[in-house]
Amino acid sequence: TGFPKESDLYVSSTATIKLKLSEPEHEGSSNKLVLVKNLYLSCDPYQRLLMERIEGLSSQPNSSFTPGSPIYGYGVAKVLDSGHPDLKAGDLVWGTTYWEEYSRIPAPEGLIKIQHTDVPLSYYTGILGMPGLTAYVGFYEICSPKKGEHVFISAAAGAVGQLVGQFAKLMGCYVVGSAGSKEKVDLLKNKLGFDEAFNYKEEADLNAAFKRYFPEGIDIYFENVGGKMLDAVLLNMRLHGRIAVCGMISQYNLDQAEGVTNLMHLVYKRIRLHGFSVRDHYHLHSKFVESMLPYIRQGKIVYMEDIVEGLESGPRALVGLFKGLNFGKQVVDISA
Ligand code: NDP
Repeated sequence: TGFPKESDLYVSSTATIKLKLSEPEHEGSSNKLVLVKNLYLSCDPYQRLLMERIEGLSSQPNSSFTPGSPIYGYGVAKVLDSGHPDLKAGDLVWGTTYWEEYSRIPAPEGLIKIQHTDVPLSYYTGILGMPGLTAYVGFYEICSPKKGEHVFISAAAGAVGQLVGQFAKLMGCYVVGSAGSKEKVDLLKNKLGFDEAFNYKEEADLNAAFKRYFPEGIDIYFENVGGKMLDAVLLNMRLHGRIAVCGMISQYNLDQAEGVTNLMHLVYKRIRLHGFSVRDHYHLHSKFVESMLPYIRQGKIVYMEDIVEGLESGPRALVGLFKGLNFGKQVVDISA
């Protein structure tokens, strides 16, 4: 409960590890394990949600972390040995892995083979992985955007938000983002091409800020934050606006979620409020990667990463998401 602390996580060593799968692990038809060396670990806000049981979701098996066992998340890894016919030693993969140097992972459901290695491998934790697909699905599929529309993105300097803003600019929208520091606001405007950006921590009256940046109202809100931000946005939405509810990070550490008082504006303005989970959209992943690669290679989309080194840096990096310490996608590099 409450804000996660670095001391909620610890690093420990095991005595020995065999860097080969044993014969039964290779042979068992229901036990197609892959042994990997983990290279990059992804820090994601949803990992905080795995630190507690969420009411209404408790029937989901294995959804929470187990105290005393390695936590898990998305990562990039190299296959050392494989009991699965589609993967062989030397292949690079991304998918769900454990926060440890070496992992045994069931394949293929947990792992996707990396086909393109001319971009940084860490991108498969971000722009070409789960957050990238989230931005893509959330913006293009959930927001139904049109050229010229007015788009607002909260947590805009993060792994997902920075991409949503760039997608919206490519579509010819007017784009404003919020972030928690002057440095991030400058990056949004000067590096990522947002039309405007503001530091939400310096806005005593968020409603007034929206009146300033959206005098004609907001068509699309890409919601990453929740709470007071959502309440103020609702007052400033346009008729037939769309709100893609991607996440609500301001609520994850609260014992009791903040109330949202302006929900009647959904009715007044015929707004579509649509929650979504990237987990339902992985069938689009390869199409998404193929469509993104030319933009990355030509520099038409840029991606900010915040990479720290070593497993020991992991707890601080993960907890830092909830203090806004990360500039862009937070990654832990354990490739050395
Ligand atoms: P980010 O890289 O954006 O990191 C989190 C950022 O949230 C921080 O850097 C901080 O930025 C901001 N933040 C933290 N606490 C608060 C707070 N109390 N109020 C406002 N802002 C806060 O994370 P992601 O891009 O990976 O994730 C963004 C959102 O998308 C999250 O809500 C996440 O849960 C959600 N998500 C949902 C998915 C889905 O399938 N629906 C998939 C992936 C992500 P700042 O300095 O600006 O405050």
